[in-house]
Amino acid sequence: MNIPYHPLKCSGCAQEFAFPSIARAYTDLPQAGGRSGAHFSEMLLLSVWCHQCEGASWVERIPTAREFALAAGLRRMPKRARQEGIDDDLLDLDDADFAWLYQHLAERNAPPFCLACGSTRVVPIDTTQRDTGVLHEACWDSPILFHGFPIGSSGLRIGRASYARQFHDVTGQIVWTRMLARESFYQLCSVLEVRRDDPFHAVLASTIRLIANGSAERALAALAPLVDAQVPAALGLLGALHVLGEGVPHSGSMAVPLLENAKALGDACAAHNLASLYATGAPGVPQDVPRARQLFGDALSMGGQYERDDFYAQDDYASMTGHFYRPA
Ligand SMILES: [Zn+2]
Ligand SMILES: [Zn+2]
Repeated sequence: MNIPYHPLKCSGCAQEFAFPSIARAYTDLPQAGGRSGAHFSEMLLLSVWCHQCEGASWVERIPTAREFALAAGLRRMPKRARQEGIDDDLLDLDDADFAWLYQHLAERNAPPFCLACGSTRVVPIDTTQRDTGVLHEACWDSPILFHGFPIGSSGLRIGRASYARQFHDVTGQIVWTRMLARESFYQLCSVLEVRRDDPFHAVLASTIRLIANGSAERALAALAPLVDAQVPAALGLLGALHVLGEGVPHSGSMAVPLLENAKALGDACAAHNLASLYATGAPGVPQDVPRARQLFGDALSMGGQYERDDFYAQDDYASMTGHFYRPA
């Protein structure tokens, strides 16, 4: 059983507000293939109230140059920081992530925005206080109170659950989303991406947001006309949904022609998902490692790199054995 827990509650109408999923990272994976040095860095987050979402959300925490400099000093004497009770996310990062954030964020000019909707109409929520200072406009400005984050929040889930992990560039924009669907005995995975220069970027980016938020039905309605028009990224997204079984049947035989079509039209993400599908097999499509290797190579040469370099050097993609397909 999974008991939903919402840390924010309106003191007037008792409405509760959940924070969206926080699985986020930065990526500097090359958009042009063949270059190495892939790196993912954890994103630091601040809890906010978003006036656009009318709910709890997150923004990137972008430390100032001074905060980075102080943290760099304290990281050299971790004992002292602990003794003095200094608690800061910048001290908990591993060295590679800290170095990456220091290098890329210290000079950042673009402001942080709500990671759920992109709005900058956000106010910070101080999670050390019960009174958030936020008022619920919808019910005569009743105060919204913070009740604390759950302890050991992961919980035991029964039944199917979907998770989205979002990867951002250094300006905070989403580059791609890794979507996982889990049930007791299987885990399915797809990458969702629409390139910045795609003429349908805006509508497809909001479609990916719907999928990541578990609204596959609405996403499918938005995709349908673009699939009919053979828009490559739309064909690829529908193929990815068939890999995951989100809103459509979980079917390799339905996913393959869509992904192949999208790949033939130049969609690198579809090439990667097609390769992943052959690396594990899917209902109606047997596992085919040599085909997977060839397709991962195609994806890379099309600029579709979504894993660290060592992933592509594996003999049999053993790291994907955690991803199963659900037998039809
Ligand atoms: Zn209220
Ligand atoms: Zn928002």
